[in-house]
Amino acid sequence: MSWFIRKEKGINTPTEMKREAPDGLWYQCPNCKKITATREHKLNAYTCPHCNYHEKVGSDVYFELLFDQNKFTELDADLTSGDPLNFVDTKAYPDRIKATQAKTGLKDAVRTGHGKMNDVKVVIACMDFNFIGGSMGSVVGEKIARAINYSLKHKQPFLMISKSGGARMMEAGFSLMQMAKTSARLALLSEEKIPYISLLTDPTTGGVTASYAMLGDFNISEPEALIGFAGPRVIRETIGKDLPKGFQSAEFVLEHGFLDFIVDRKDLKDKLSSLLTMLK
Ligand SMILES: [Zn+2]
Repeated sequence: MSWFIRKEKGINTPTEMKREAPDGLWYQCPNCKKITATREHKLNAYTCPHCNYHEKVGSDVYFELLFDQNKFTELDADLTSGDPLNFVDTKAYPDRIKATQAKTGLKDAVRTGHGKMNDVKVVIACMDFNFIGGSMGSVVGEKIARAINYSLKHKQPFLMISKSGGARMMEAGFSLMQMAKTSARLALLSEEKIPYISLLTDPTTGGVTASYAMLGDFNISEPEALIGFAGPRVIRETIGKDLPKGFQSAEFVLEHGFLDFIVDRKDLKDKLSSLLTMLK
């Protein structure tokens, strides 16, 4: 079948001709199971046009959604984790970091940068769940602290987008210290009267909820995001009672006074920039 073998090499499509989300690819919503063209789903800010399910997305998507023309300067892009405890579980921690970096193209579970959002200067830190469950270790804490320093120095508002399973077990106590470090920096931001907005996305739990995610001048969330400290199973077993319906959803948390408002991802940029303009 020689006619079936490609003899000539070099029939490649240049990168600029490749479309990021070509027509003919489909996205199936895990919530309502309905089908949407990938392209339409992307244009809809990765929310389902049928049921408004907000797909989990990474820092690349949030930066593209929020920064004008996707233009921003990334801060501390090359900061990577050490192995302070020589931690080994099913594999050694440095090997796990290397493997995750190779798989995700990320250096750690948060990216930080500054740019403009509808012409308002802003510093954004956004977590990536794909990187070891968005866990908060020394690098996450340090990058957030440094991004807050940038906010302080340049008097620009700070936006934190959280998405995390909590502290990073492989760094144990070092992870927990990040809660204190980031909270202390946020207190300085508050003293300088520089606005801090915290956006909680699905899921935001553990030490992240217990520190910077709940310390915003405004704590806001995407619809139906899971927000909590310990997981529902752990709580149920501890208190020996069934939990109320919708427990730990953004809507439940809002109703009980822990959130200021819930924002649809499609409106996120406009809502945030008008809020920051009002706070100026
Ligand atoms: Zn759906």
